[in-house]
Amino acid sequence: MNEKGDKGASQTDAIHAGDSHNPTSAVSSPIFQSAASKFADSYDISGAMAEIAHPDFYGRYASHNTKQCEATIAKLEGAEAAIVTGSGMAAISLTLLSLLSSNDHIVVQRAIYPSTYILIRKLKQYGIEAKFVHSPNAAEFDTAIRDNTKLIYIESPANPLMSLVDISEIAGVARAKDLVLIVDNTFATPYNQNPVLMGADIVVQSGTKYLGGHSDLVAGAVVGSKSMIEKLWRNHILFGAVLHPFEAWLLERGLKTFPIRMDRHNHNALAVARFLEAHTAVERVYYPGLENHPQHDLAARQMTGGFGGMVSFELKGGEDASKKLLKGVKIISNAVSLGGVHSLITHPASTVSSIQSTEEIEASGVFPGLIRLSVGLEDSNDIIQDLNQSLE
Ligand code: PLP
Repeated sequence: MNEKGDKGASQTDAIHAGDSHNPTSAVSSPIFQSAASKFADSYDISGAMAEIAHPDFYGRYASHNTKQCEATIAKLEGAEAAIVTGSGMAAISLTLLSLLSSNDHIVVQRAIYPSTYILIRKLKQYGIEAKFVHSPNAAEFDTAIRDNTKLIYIESPANPLMSLVDISEIAGVARAKDLVLIVDNTFATPYNQNPVLMGADIVVQSGTKYLGGHSDLVAGAVVGSKSMIEKLWRNHILFGAVLHPFEAWLLERGLKTFPIRMDRHNHNALAVARFLEAHTAVERVYYPGLENHPQHDLAARQMTGGFGGMVSFELKGGEDASKKLLKGVKIISNAVSLGGVHSLITHPASTVSSIQSTEEIEASGVFPGLIRLSVGLEDSNDIIQDLNQSLE
């Protein structure tokens, strides 16, 4: 249990869960920057090769640094095991490509990260069909299931409108039909929400975001049961999208402050959302922590640690007003990505315009005036003041 008194990520686990994978007495683990380790003889090498994720066998299999991150992330998510990967997309593609074969069908929430949407549509070339569900309603997911459906894929809150799905309800649908449920927990993070404890089989994360937390690395993670992770690991070493020792070291370093950072992200984002909601130039704010968010009750039930650091909003002046706001910010940076210490702002309709058609962008609920803000760890008053001066 953590200081909030719930089952979410504890600060002690964030600091110590990876300790047993640091084979030295150094308080802060060294970076094990080596592609291979020396053994007494070749029989020892074959023993290490046969073991799941032996940290001294070969850099593509595991390192002490990746093992530290995996132990920490699994603990924070409330899962048995984890694999860290070279990016969030590597975690997602590893999971989907490992669990699916030609002639399989999957049921997918339509409101998901655009690259995940594109990847899932590409699966058609391997004979895998996807049915996209536009509604958050569990009954609609149920109706979309066919005889050859293998898994359900969801994201909550979802990019970029902060729409939610009821993870426990969807887990019930998946369980009743013996399907695997995969949840992208990147926006919520394991501090605020633990899908595995709600019945999800697999959680995927972009570690680039809140887990790393400093916008200085690209990483991903998959968590689940020990047997599921072992099965995925056998493909992970073949697909080869591994996390290198230095990146893993940076990720583990970020993880050590993850709960306290999340506390501040939650606090700052709520303050910013309340400020925007009260501003006369703002048409609408999308933040699950606001009482008028259409799914606030679900958010309060499901996101037990807080409502996250992502806020989207729409200005009364439409796209023109949005452009002016984006140009006028000083502390907040115009940059993609999210979840780091710096506040970052984007215009989703234009950032995805090179990879999606206008129809696809509109179908995902993104309209031209929408702005997405990743609220960082600067003083909330300064972030609000920056938005205010730019809105003026
Ligand atoms: N999932 C979500 C919700 C994301 O926002 C992102 C990236 O923005 C990803 C997955 C992919 O992560 P990465 O960029 O680390 O590959």
